[in-house]
Amino acid sequence: MLKGKVAVITGGTRGIGNAIAKKYAENGANLAIIATKDNEKAQAAIEELKKNGTDVKLYLCDIKNADQVTSVSEEILADFGGVDIVVNNAGITRDNLLPGLSIADIDDVIDINLKGTMYVTRSFIRNFIKRKGGNIINISSVVGLMGNKGQANYAASKAGIVGFTKTVAKEYGRKNIRCNAIAPGYIATEMTAQLSEAQTEELKKQLPLARLGKPEDIAELALFLASDRSSYITGEVIKVDGGMYV
Ligand code: NDP
Repeated sequence: MLKGKVAVITGGTRGIGNAIAKKYAENGANLAIIATKDNEKAQAAIEELKKNGTDVKLYLCDIKNADQVTSVSEEILADFGGVDIVVNNAGITRDNLLPGLSIADIDDVIDINLKGTMYVTRSFIRNFIKRKGGNIINISSVVGLMGNKGQANYAASKAGIVGFTKTVAKEYGRKNIRCNAIAPGYIATEMTAQLSEAQTEELKKQLPLARLGKPEDIAELALFLASDRSSYITGEVIKVDGGMYV
């Protein structure tokens, strides 16, 4: 479905981003993976992605640093000759009730989740306009739509992504650039592994589908949104949450 396309995926070495990267590579996409860590695990993930036979490169970049984003995006454009798809997946949590959130907890979450998404998108828009098309997929969260105790910083960052997504869809629809967001519920990754077994069990009870989601559940939608099969969908926020929002 993505043969010959070039996709940039932030946070593509593990978790949801890695599941999306796998799905894209299996469908013929070349990948520019952005991450902060170049450890053994990250290298193994990149080697695994390469097995699909497409071009896969790892770029080290802290997306909250605008200068790093600018230089890495220029490097990616030079290496691949252009980009078709950007997936803004990288994100962090720093949870606490509002008085317990430090200034750094607030700044880091907003800087990485929201500003990082804006920096990365902004750095590829001109290329999309030049190529007369492009596709942006932002990973928000159901928490950004419904709020969550202990996640004021995170929920605000994910709600910000919703406004950003809709605005980009409006600004660039005429240039054949689509922009959509996915709002996952609880997905089993290192991010949610911080929850205790009791917390996880309690959560499951509240979910109509009574289980946590898998990174692949998000990757399936990310593939559909990146492909021409969704060519008339833009400005949407689609939940993949086991019914959590219901
Ligand atoms: P993980 O913690 O498993 O992975 C986070 C990824 O983001 C890593 O690849 C990491 O790369 C990257 N990353 C973090 N900070 C930066 C940074 N400053 N610059 C570049 N890359 C960075 O998270 P998940 O896979 O669970 O989450 C992925 C996305 O999905 C996030 O945006 C998250 O908010 C969202 N989400 C997750 C849910 C869940 O239940 N898991 C639910 C709803 C939304 P590295 O290791 O190199 O630092």
